[in-house]
Amino acid sequence: MTERNRDHWAAEARALAFPRRALVDGRFVDAVSGATFDCVDPATGRVLTTVAACDAADVDLAVAAARRSFESGVWSRRAPGERKAVLLRLAELIRAHRDELALLETLDTGKPIADTLHGDIPGAAATVQWYAEAIDKLYDEIAPAPPGHLALVRREPLGVVGAVVPWNFPLEMAVWKCAPALAAGNSVVLKPAEQSPLTALRFAELAHEAGLPPGVLAVLPGFGPTAGKALGLHMDVDCLAFTGSTEVGKLFLIYAGQSNLKQVWLECGGKSPNLVFADCRDLDAAADAAAHGIFFNQGEVCSAASRLLVERSIAEVFTAKVAERARAVRLGDPLDPATTMGAMIDERHTDRVLAHIEAGRRQAHLALGGNRVVVGDSRAFVEPTIFTGVDNDHVIAREEIFGPVLAILPFDTEEEAIAIANDTIYGLAASVWTADLGRAHRVGERLKAGTVSVNCVDAGSTATPFGGFKQSGFGRDLSLHAFDKFTGLKTTWISY
Ligand code: NAD
Repeated sequence: MTERNRDHWAAEARALAFPRRALVDGRFVDAVSGATFDCVDPATGRVLTTVAACDAADVDLAVAAARRSFESGVWSRRAPGERKAVLLRLAELIRAHRDELALLETLDTGKPIADTLHGDIPGAAATVQWYAEAIDKLYDEIAPAPPGHLALVRREPLGVVGAVVPWNFPLEMAVWKCAPALAAGNSVVLKPAEQSPLTALRFAELAHEAGLPPGVLAVLPGFGPTAGKALGLHMDVDCLAFTGSTEVGKLFLIYAGQSNLKQVWLECGGKSPNLVFADCRDLDAAADAAAHGIFFNQGEVCSAASRLLVERSIAEVFTAKVAERARAVRLGDPLDPATTMGAMIDERHTDRVLAHIEAGRRQAHLALGGNRVVVGDSRAFVEPTIFTGVDNDHVIAREEIFGPVLAILPFDTEEEAIAIANDTIYGLAASVWTADLGRAHRVGERLKAGTVSVNCVDAGSTATPFGGFKQSGFGRDLSLHAFDKFTGLKTTWISY
């Protein structure tokens, strides 16, 4: 097969049909208010389509339909094997529509087409499949009980799950919530980020094609302070699963307290340290991973390895290796399959990233990049950027930038490295490079992070839990542990 080039994707983009209406009770509908918002391609500034701007009235309708579907048992009490079959079909449909979904995601977010084709979309399909396969392999418990008694401990779906997700991996974040929540038998009302509603809408359409009954999954495009807040405050939502900033995560805790004490699960921000010790056996592999860990997905990754802690004796050599990789990043048109870094999500976020770079210039040494790049009509591109001479008190070492900005900090001892690594409000991920197995365990144990990667960066799979400590949130996505979020334990005592 000839490699499909930029022209192919540009032609496909021109022919693409964009989803634009909300999905409520199995039907695509306009927002009750009739309001819409522009969905913009950040790489060109072009308006792709206008999308329904849902608010509290739409949330009320979607939650009511979700409740009806849940109580009817049409999904919640369906045999595990039947729910499994529907979700397996959905995984297949995602795969069958890979090109279309990848293109929607790339146009909506500015991510390189190579990443959405080979990462986001197959990743989403794999996650749906994983949870589909788990459905008929989960056993409940029988607890020890006195003679003449039987104590059953069963996991039950919670009811109506609200999911509010960000724009950096729109389909994958939606699937990380929806797949386990649906697999467990819940009904779900999903609010994608206003910057990136398209793949969630198409995903829900495919879910219905796969046989998901109407009402079980609703998708409400809209803004945080309207649709997101209404879901958080709703009296008939049993659980709210959120991925996004720590600031908004805290609001969901308040919403729960102000309403029905719904369960809230938060996957929030990060400022993840990557520790490279001088005994690291393969500095080239470490440099590859360090660069990928911050420049992948334009640095718009919650677990991005944004603080690189390097033992002083190798700091200069290692910084040069990482800079070499940064210079090899191909920044540009996301529709070009050779592009490895695309546009930031929008100009507003680009300005935020550039403001952090300005703060960095005032406090540390700018070793590489630091500039906005204009591509065609879009001003939403930022060069891969590296700062050296960073102190952990500097703004760029403390705040989550969510852009391609690496802060390099030297250290002298293991103790100091651990102290710097943990000196952050976040605790999502951390990495350690060392040839010393004892050190790997010693340091790994003391790093306050939900995932510690040794001699790799930001490792993970559907089979392993993902989430944070401290202000990175609580609860875990992925793995069987995700079911802890979306089910409640019920004990039934039987006396005989
Ligand atoms: P954000 O918090 O601004 O928005 C996330 C979602 O919350 C969006 O759907 C948005 O509409 C909604 N929202 C915004 N304000 C709201 C409000 N007042 N009430 C209710 N809902 C509201 O985050 P973002 O800028 O879209 O995404 C970037 C953030 O997401 C980063 O902090 C990143 O670290 C985090 N993130 C975390 C993970 C993780 O798993 N830990 C994964 C990806 C992204």
